[in-house]
Amino acid sequence: MQALPPGSIIGILGAGQLGRMLAIAAAQLGLKSRIYSDVPGPASDVAISTTIGAYEDLEKISEFAATTDVVTYEFENVPVEAAAAVARVRPVRPGLKALEVAQDRLKEKSFIASLDLPLPRFAAVDSEADFAAALEKVGAPSILKTRRLGYDGKGQARLASAGDIGPAFEAIGGAPATLEALVPFEYEVSVILVRDPAGETRVYDIPQNHHEGGILRTSTVPSALPAEHQTLAREIAGKLAGALDYIGVMGVEMFYVGEGPQPLLLNEFAPRVHNSGHWTMDACAVSQFENHIRAVAGWPLGATDRHCDCRMTNLIGDDVAAWLQLAAEHGACLHLYGKNQARPGRKMGHVNRLSALSNGG
Ligand code: AMP
Repeated sequence: MQALPPGSIIGILGAGQLGRMLAIAAAQLGLKSRIYSDVPGPASDVAISTTIGAYEDLEKISEFAATTDVVTYEFENVPVEAAAAVARVRPVRPGLKALEVAQDRLKEKSFIASLDLPLPRFAAVDSEADFAAALEKVGAPSILKTRRLGYDGKGQARLASAGDIGPAFEAIGGAPATLEALVPFEYEVSVILVRDPAGETRVYDIPQNHHEGGILRTSTVPSALPAEHQTLAREIAGKLAGALDYIGVMGVEMFYVGEGPQPLLLNEFAPRVHNSGHWTMDACAVSQFENHIRAVAGWPLGATDRHCDCRMTNLIGDDVAAWLQLAAEHGACLHLYGKNQARPGRKMGHVNRLSALSNGG
């Protein structure tokens, strides 16, 4: 595909805050965005049109695709059939393979394992009949996670000992799941990379991520990750993206367990822009959102260098009530998503706190 000229139209499946920030980045490049979603959302405030329709309505989503030049998605649970219908009309980037693998934890882990990339021990648990074999392979402490539709720690239950598996399976509604070993990590990091249609890959500095209650709270650059393990993290993520023929930004979450044969274990990847990359909006010349748009539109990738230190803090639920103080805070870049109701656990915005570059990036 030739680079799409300014004025071209990016279709975005999903109307959440990631779609909103993608549309803002597209607008900066003179591109326009159309949104398709089953529910209204904050992306519509900054797009030229929104189509509300079910993802199962393949006719409607195909008609939508015909009004765009290329289509991307802002969440990984877009049904593969919907993406396939779109792909018959316009290019879908990232492709269907990444979507299919990322939306099913068992497929995701099996794919990662097939590439010989390091990850925690895991086993499938589709029903009670799998309990014994899964415990034999994985043991406890461990975490049972639904194969599909889990996010921000939802659809997960922890096992302190093998006897907890029954209650844990009940707690996640008896849905098909994976059991995975609880990793005694030092901290969590992620690789935010962008890959263009020719396979050129650029990686942002690796943030250190802190979660609370299963939800990302802060991402900090620079991380404490030793230089040789940063290189390793980049290699792992690059291999994964290459194997998926990936186009666009991908977020790869990893556990850092420290020195040893496997210093890093892959947790999961998101086939989209990622919350732990939001700091790039203010600490890099070209943000993850702009680079995703550049990649899907066939433009040259932008520089991923970091020009200052940064801590991104998510504004979750009532945190957003502090917007006026945050707006007045020196060195703080405030991003609000335009959601009108601050429910507990809901991501309402984020703030990037900048400081002078400490280690030359
Ligand atoms: P996930 O939805 O799989 O990314 O899990 C959300 C968060 O739960 C992770 O970012 C970790 O903080 C924690 N977590 C998930 N899986 C594991 C694991 N196998 N070992 C330790 N902590 C985990």
